[in-house]
Amino acid sequence: MLGLSSYHSFHLSSCCESLIAFENVEQLRAALNNASRYYLLGEGSNTLFVEDFAGTVLVNKIKGISSTTTETAVHLQVGAGENWHKLVTYALENGYHGMENLALIPGSVGACPIQNIGAYGIEVADFIESVECINLATFETQQLTHEQCQFGYRDSIFKHSLAGKVVITQVNFKLPTNYTPVTTYGELAALNNPGPQDIYDEVIRVRQKKLPDPAVLGNAGSFFKNPIIGLGQYEQLLNIHPGLPAYKVDDHRMKVPAAWLIDKLGFKGKTLGEVRCHPTQPLVLTNLGNACGEEVLQMARQIISSVKQRFAIELEPEVRLIAKHGLTTL
Ligand SMILES: Cc1cc2nc3c(=O)[nH]c(=O)nc-3n(C[C@H](O)[C@H](O)[C@H](O)COP(=O)(O)OP(=O)(O)OC[C@H]3O[C@@H](n4cnc5c(N)ncnc54)[C@H](O)[C@@H]3O)c2cc1C
Repeated sequence: MLGLSSYHSFHLSSCCESLIAFENVEQLRAALNNASRYYLLGEGSNTLFVEDFAGTVLVNKIKGISSTTTETAVHLQVGAGENWHKLVTYALENGYHGMENLALIPGSVGACPIQNIGAYGIEVADFIESVECINLATFETQQLTHEQCQFGYRDSIFKHSLAGKVVITQVNFKLPTNYTPVTTYGELAALNNPGPQDIYDEVIRVRQKKLPDPAVLGNAGSFFKNPIIGLGQYEQLLNIHPGLPAYKVDDHRMKVPAAWLIDKLGFKGKTLGEVRCHPTQPLVLTNLGNACGEEVLQMARQIISSVKQRFAIELEPEVRLIAKHGLTTL
C-alpha cells in the first residue's frame, strides 16, 4: 500500500494500492488498462481520502501552455496538469489580464472547470472558451464549448452527466484585451483605482491572512458549499436572525454564507480529535496533525445536523470524499 498523505491537501494518512502519474494520453490509456478501480487526481486540494482506497490513483501531469493573440483577446491553451496559481501568475507576467482575483487557489488547471472555481467576484467560467477531454468509454477526444460545460455556482456538467466519464486534458481560456477589474467583492472594494498587479497582490495578502496554508495545516479549503435557499425561506430566517447575510442569486433565490451559519452555532475553533473547525474561517476544517477520516466525517456530520436543526438548511460538502471503493457521501 502507498501513502496518500502528500497527494491531498488534507494530508490524511490513508493509502492506495498503487499510484501512476501520466504525462500524456498514451500513458493514461496504459494506466487505465492495468487498473480495475481507479481515482483520477489533480493536486488533491478538493479531495479527502477518508479511508484506504482499494485501487489505483492516477495523477494528471499533462503540461504545456501556449497562446495566440487576436485584436480583441488572448487565447491560452493549457495542459490539465499545470498548476492553477502558476497559470494566473504566468498570465499576469505576460500582460494577459483578468484572472488575478483567482490567484492562490490551489489545484490543477484540469480540475478548475469541474467545480467552476471562484473567488472575489469571479468564476473561472468567465474565461473558459472550451474544455478538451478524453472520453473514457471510447478514448476519443471530445471538445466541449463553454455552453456545453453548463457552468453554475461550483458546478458544471463534469459533476453531473460527465462525472467519471471523461478525463480533462486541456483547458482553453479567452482573456479579452479590454480588461475591466472586478473589485466589488470584500477587501478589493477598498482599493483605489487598482491595476491587475494590485488585485493579484491584495488577493494573495488577504488569502494568506484568512486561510490556513495546507502545507502547514492540512485542509481542503471550504468544506461546505454556500447554500442557496428560496426567497421565502430567507425572509422567514431573517425575521428570526436579523443579521443573516445573503447574496441575491436571482429573483427567487438567495445564497447564504455557510461560514456565518456555522459560526452562529459556535463551531469556530472547536475540535473533534485531531480535526478543528478553523478559528478565523469556520468553513474550513483542518487536520491538526494526526486526524483520521472518521473524525473528519463525524465533525462534518455534526455541523450539517446542527445547521439543519437551527436553520432548516441542508449543507452540502464542497470537497470530494473518497472511501475504500471511491466517492462517498456524508
Ligand atoms: C486552502 C484552499 C483554498 C481553496 N480556495 C478555493 C476558492 O477560493 N475557490 C474555489 O473554487 N475552490 C477553492 N479551493 C478548492 C480547490 O482549490 C479547487 O477545487 C481546485 O480546483 C481543486 O484542484 P485539484 O487539482 O487539487 O483537484 P483534485 O482534488 O485533485 O480533484 C478534484 C475533483 O476533480 C477530479 N479531477 C481532477 N482532475 C481532473 C481531470 N483532469 N479530469 C477530470 N476530472 C478531474 C477529481 O477526480 C476530483 O473529483 C481551495 C482549496 C484549498 C485547499
